[in-house]
Amino acid sequence: MTIAFQGIGVAASQSVAIGPAYLTGHGLSSASPTPIHPEQVGGELNRLNQAVAAARRALKMVRAQVPHATPLNIAEFIDAHLLMLEDVALVDEVRKIIRDQLYCAEWALQMQRDILVRVFDAMDDPYLRTRRDDVEHVVQQIMSFLQGAQLQFDPDNRDLQGCVVVARDLTPADAIVLRHRGAAAFVTEYGGPVSHTAILARSLAVPAVVGVHNITRYVRPGEPLIVDGETGTVLADPDTGTLDYYRERLSAIEARRQHLHTLVDRPTVSRDGTAISLLANLELPQDAATARLNGAAGVGLYRTEFLYMNRDNLPDEEEHLATYTTIVTALAGLPLTIRTLDLGLDKRSEALGDLGPGASNPALGLRGIRLCLKEAGLFRPQLRAILRASALGPIRVMLPMVANVQEVDAVLALIAQLKEELTREGLAFDPRLPVGAMVEVPAAALIARSLARRMDFLSIGTNDLIQYSLAIDRLDDSVSYLFDPTHPAILRLVRMTIEAGHALDTPVAMCGEMAGDPRFTRLLLALGLRHFSIQPGALLGVKEIILDTDIGELEAHTNRLFARLDDAEPGELLDALEALNRL
Ligand code: PEP
Ligand code: MG
Repeated sequence: MTIAFQGIGVAASQSVAIGPAYLTGHGLSSASPTPIHPEQVGGELNRLNQAVAAARRALKMVRAQVPHATPLNIAEFIDAHLLMLEDVALVDEVRKIIRDQLYCAEWALQMQRDILVRVFDAMDDPYLRTRRDDVEHVVQQIMSFLQGAQLQFDPDNRDLQGCVVVARDLTPADAIVLRHRGAAAFVTEYGGPVSHTAILARSLAVPAVVGVHNITRYVRPGEPLIVDGETGTVLADPDTGTLDYYRERLSAIEARRQHLHTLVDRPTVSRDGTAISLLANLELPQDAATARLNGAAGVGLYRTEFLYMNRDNLPDEEEHLATYTTIVTALAGLPLTIRTLDLGLDKRSEALGDLGPGASNPALGLRGIRLCLKEAGLFRPQLRAILRASALGPIRVMLPMVANVQEVDAVLALIAQLKEELTREGLAFDPRLPVGAMVEVPAAALIARSLARRMDFLSIGTNDLIQYSLAIDRLDDSVSYLFDPTHPAILRLVRMTIEAGHALDTPVAMCGEMAGDPRFTRLLLALGLRHFSIQPGALLGVKEIILDTDIGELEAHTNRLFARLDDAEPGELLDALEALNRL
């Protein structure tokens, strides 16, 4: 087998592409610390200003090229980058370095970039960390003009039909233009699974692998590339055997997609007649359409954090309302579960301004419901908008990071107060707006009965539940091998929560990634889970398993599995799980 380069990165979308490499933006040399004389300061400041102006023109040009049919509000990303070009923390500081430390513009820019990137790298919240990418993208734009580049993606410069774009990094704006010009896939050196570019790749259904270190050094323009967005693999110059294998994979993926699509309209009922509700997780309002195309029975988790990202002001009540109205309308009568703001805390977030103190460990700090209860000014507009939107369609509100009953009682009291306020103002709302809590802190699972008594529904957030129960930072690669949904502690907490719901007649859903992983579908069904909330692209795979499962048949096996939880030999639980899946 002759593969010139094999790179492993982060799988950023779910498909495979084969095409010639189109290298871009990799020719930028990094800056060197060139000292300047005081009399050169004016000239350097001038060069910087011109580069910033050119970057601004380039971004505006890209913005004008954004196709109307784009299923994302990409213009907002670009606007955020335009704003960043004006940001004192970036350009003004670079000017200061030129003036005070007497360095050339390129080096000053690189120094400030390093400072900002360090700040963002220290953040634990994945959404806030994506701001690091924004800094990189904007610096890259300015740097390219300082170094004499032309507009990186001149919209007319080349047809990219079928090409695999390889770049050190892509801005969301680049990604959208590249897709518009026919790019079949993209591969980047930087970026994580929740970077904007990766989010866009999934949303645009473009095969993509991010975080393939140094790929721009090893791949030659025009060289055939295979991009496997499922495994995060990139293969350069593959031999015919490998190509044939991937061509077969492509046909198999397409055949499977078509097969799964035939399930869209089938009711989600197990072989022995239990109805299951399959709901979708949404990041962006535009995903509502994809959720419907995949047959979702509604939305079980709309992460409203996106509303706060990439901007330096907070969304007001009207903006919240407009967004929720768009989704409710797109869902045409299907239920929408809006999760209230769950940003991790950081003072340096532009959107959050100075709210709340910094925390030495933000994962354990003023996150989610804690932040919202402390900052009523942040919470009230969102809750009022959710209430007002509830007059337009079936809406439920869901609280993240709940750890005790006082928190839910406080939210219920606030909602009651806001209802009175809206009534006085003559604004409509659903008086019975269901309120639910996420069970994603181990304490919440352990007091699930108290929560179930107070709440209209519960939803298990396994991403955080696993992080907090097993003490694994979900963003830290070095401990990701410990991230195990089948750890006995997790299985017990999940079962405990589902049983508490059953005992009190409170529906329990699961909206963490575990719910969308087909390996666990049968186990969860056997544990009594009846509501799954999943990213839209994974809905039909889980549905296929549900349709093929006799839940009654699973129960004896699952009881045996639980009876062995404390004494199981290594690997025994996984074997038992596989046995369930083979039934
Ligand atoms: C979870 O924690 O499982 C969850 C669904 O919430 P998020 O991933 O947004 O933290
Ligand atoms: Mg969570």
